[in-house]
Amino acid sequence: MAILVTGGAGYIGTHTLVELSDAGYEYVVLDNFCNSDKKAIERVEGLTGKKIKIYEGDIADGELLDKILNENDINACIHFAGLKAVGESVREPLMYYKNNVIGSIKMLDKLMERGVKKIIFSSSATVYGDPEIIPITEECPKGEITNPYGRTKSIFEDILMDTAGADSELTAVLLRYFNPVGAHESGKIGEDPSGIPNNLMPFITQVAVGKREKLSVFGDDYDTPDGTGIRDYIHVVDLADGHVKALKKIGVLPDKEVPADKGILIYNLGTGRGTSVLELVKAFEAASGVKIPYDIAPRRAGDVAKMYCDASKAGKDLDWKAVRDIDKMCADSWNWQKNNPEGYNS
Ligand code: NAD
Ligand code: UDP
Repeated sequence: MAILVTGGAGYIGTHTLVELSDAGYEYVVLDNFCNSDKKAIERVEGLTGKKIKIYEGDIADGELLDKILNENDINACIHFAGLKAVGESVREPLMYYKNNVIGSIKMLDKLMERGVKKIIFSSSATVYGDPEIIPITEECPKGEITNPYGRTKSIFEDILMDTAGADSELTAVLLRYFNPVGAHESGKIGEDPSGIPNNLMPFITQVAVGKREKLSVFGDDYDTPDGTGIRDYIHVVDLADGHVKALKKIGVLPDKEVPADKGILIYNLGTGRGTSVLELVKAFEAASGVKIPYDIAPRRAGDVAKMYCDASKAGKDLDWKAVRDIDKMCADSWNWQKNNPEGYNS
């Protein structure tokens, strides 16, 4: 038995491969490397001591999926593959709908046809829009989403729900990630954005390593204690562990399947703690010993003031909890960046 991991060469995928190996799972990876580097897979192999079976190609390629399903005994899929840059999705919406929605539909169709009906899907806190309730529980209605990327996530959630409504064998876990940061503590794998980072933590680490001059803090006039935006940062290794726990919840164990809940299961994966931009800067400076110069810039379009979750449902149902704090997130992000100033091309 093996898990099909789409997008396994990416930031969250690589960390999840390590946790899957530690838990004793077998897996194969499908990735087209449109936003990742083959060296990331080599690094995972170094960490786990195991050769990874990798299929290079697109999730929309039915023939390739048939080949993977013929050559392996796949019983579940963790679906990370997707494009994720919010700004790019505004400029290239069709590319996002094609890749994240049409590609995922084609993949789901093939998996259903071949009887692989256990799926874990990378969703996002962005589906809550500007949340009505803080901390955000899974009961909180989806909100008005401000960009095409977020809509692709919400649409594919709905597609999974409709498909599960029509086929009671389909079991899909929708994991709504908050803000993944940090890196494996070895410093061998981590986040390697191409071009100018959109997200706060990789921007900070690139300032620290001298690749960028200073950070722009997007707005200091939000209704928050220091005026800067609050997010729920979660260590990527804790997030990866959430996927292992989700597999167990749906009865997929390393060597066998056991009876378990079916249908759609939705979980927030976050720490439940909010951290402001300036608090993160301070924590990073303390962890790294490097000063981060910044200036205050206008708000970024589409940003909300506060997003943090109530992660107690995942705690109770999955026996999962984020255990790494903000200091550890900063220390591990810095360890990765300083050892790999040019990411995987260092
Ligand atoms: P990533 O870009 O590092 O990894 C995604 C991987 O998918 C890459 O290796 C890329 O090459 C691959 N890929 C993309 N489209 C593909 C396709 N059509 N066929 C095959 N492979 C394809 O991103 P990540 O940060 O690891 O995110 C993983 C998933 O989690 C994504 O779906 C993302 O939208 C979601 N997510 C990420 C965050 C975050 O902040 N990182 C937050 C919420 C949700
Ligand atoms: N942010 C910032 N400067 C940057 C990048 C982000 O001030 O260069 C802020 C952003 O406004 C938000 C927080 O940092 O309040 C987290 O942003 P990120 O893009 O990492 O995550 P998201 O907005 O998707 O939750």
